[in-house]
Amino acid sequence: MANLISSGEVGDDCIQLSNGLTSVFIDVLTLSGSKLAQNDDEKRLIVWLAEKDQSAVGIGTVGFDISEMPWNIKRFDECKRFMMKTIEAAENRTGWDKLDYQPSEELLFPNLKKFAEMIGKLTVNDVYPNALEDWRNSAENDDPILNGFPKCPKHEVLMTYLGCLFCAVDETRKKYD
Ligand SMILES: [Zn+2]
Repeated sequence: MANLISSGEVGDDCIQLSNGLTSVFIDVLTLSGSKLAQNDDEKRLIVWLAEKDQSAVGIGTVGFDISEMPWNIKRFDECKRFMMKTIEAAENRTGWDKLDYQPSEELLFPNLKKFAEMIGKLTVNDVYPNALEDWRNSAENDDPILNGFPKCPKHEVLMTYLGCLFCAVDETRKKYD
């Protein structure tokens, strides 16, 4: 089984990742993006990615289309620049000291490069216009995205409604509560 990352109407661009590689992909972007994100627009993009936690929501169920990410369409160019910087920082192994494994760069890096190409081609017209609003509206009151975007003190990553991507889910929930 695998997860597919697609790019709406933008040609045939897509990335197919094994389940294991998907976890690595999400881990490294969560680490670098959490470090770089300054404003709510940027933090939201990373939390949304970090929610693609297969151990919590199901193996092989976290494929997504980049047009469905919670882009702020009023600040689309800035958001896109931020994502490009996040991918670049992941390629520079930002935050990898928090990982308890060594990612296979041979498998990971070509896919990060492809992801950057897909994001690079995405235009504001490709983006699903209500993605951000729908996602926000579906959040429960205690969701981190509505509560100041807390970070896990141990892993220094933005938390999601599932907790920290790197802590055991139950343990983190206890901490967060
Ligand atoms: Zn943690």
